[in-house]
Amino acid sequence: MTQHKDRVTNHEQLKLVNAARVYQLIDLYGPVSRVSIAQQTALAPASVTNITRQLLDHNLISEVAQQASTGGRPAISLTTRQTGFYFVSCRLGRDVIQCAAMDLSGQTHFEQQTRLEEHDKQGIVHTLLDQIQQITNRFPQQRFVAIAVTMAGLVDPASGIIHYSPNHSISGLKLSEVLKDFSLPVYIGNDIRARALSEFYLGSAQQCDDFILVSIHNGVGAGIISDGQLLLGKHRPVGEIGHVQIDPFGKQCHCGSFGCLETVVSNPAIIEQTRELLERGHPSCLTAQNLTIESICHAATQGDAVANHVMEQAAKYLGQVLGMLVNVFNPEKILLSGEIAQSSPVLFPLLMQQIKRQTLPSFSGNLTLDRATFQHQDTIGGYALIKRALHDSDLLRHIMQNQ
Ligand SMILES: [Zn+2]
Repeated sequence: MTQHKDRVTNHEQLKLVNAARVYQLIDLYGPVSRVSIAQQTALAPASVTNITRQLLDHNLISEVAQQASTGGRPAISLTTRQTGFYFVSCRLGRDVIQCAAMDLSGQTHFEQQTRLEEHDKQGIVHTLLDQIQQITNRFPQQRFVAIAVTMAGLVDPASGIIHYSPNHSISGLKLSEVLKDFSLPVYIGNDIRARALSEFYLGSAQQCDDFILVSIHNGVGAGIISDGQLLLGKHRPVGEIGHVQIDPFGKQCHCGSFGCLETVVSNPAIIEQTRELLERGHPSCLTAQNLTIESICHAATQGDAVANHVMEQAAKYLGQVLGMLVNVFNPEKILLSGEIAQSSPVLFPLLMQQIKRQTLPSFSGNLTLDRATFQHQDTIGGYALIKRALHDSDLLRHIMQNQ
């Protein structure tokens, strides 16, 4: 009896995995014909017909007529339906929570942000629940299929537990449990890793299976896509490049170590280095008061000596760490996210020089350095978590079983 039940379960699971493969193929490469799907997935044509019928029944895909280049009867192809499914995407920032109602095309239909007054578990949970409720109340006619939450720190997407937040006292918080009253699947993830996936789905790295997103704000981190997959440890975070030690006698980092990368190339570190140079009396178009990362970047592109020196230092240290990543992962491109990317005409050639100096020529020969598409849309990371959950079959199963 148990064996029979297991066989049924395995059979159902296999059907779901195949449905997810077909959905993913249509989503990433559609419009695509059934014949082409069968060829690319090696599924029997009858299975493809069966799966696409189910996906059509649940309004997850639709048929489109495509005129063949040779003329004749239009062929029927399939494309995913993006606009009928809403989800809530939240980003837990250092000082604010942003919440958006989005659809599967990545379009934001409404977004709001609330200032965080309390940074403990109770305060964060209260604000988050309130924000999500407000978003879902605002669209009573729309069907919400999931909730996504991204944040800085160490989170376990599988268990929904936050292990460490650099900004809030919420270690050990099981977020999926907190949000269970909404009766929706909850997907949580580190925001930089989720942003890397967003660049893969919608941004500067579409069709690029091997790339690294480096994010520089108050901290420094990386999201690594290798062979089209986001690198995630099973229960261990990866990509914490901000804590690679580049100067053993440097400033102490909030992690406890000394001279971590983010003690020299994060926004606050760059502002501090510029201020020190100005206070020593070096001539510059900048003034020590009201310094911002944007004004430093602008001064660097205008040839200001102090700003250029700061960028040279940043390129040297960041380039060292990126060089290591290039030797390990051999990416096609590196995307930079953060205000510092505004200095790209100055920073990128310096960075590339440093990377080439310490990598295999065959690895860095075709490497490109680019700005990330999503520089300011903080809730886009949630979109990527939802997309991945659809492609991985988890969210697809939920939609197909609950519609
Ligand atoms: Zn550190």
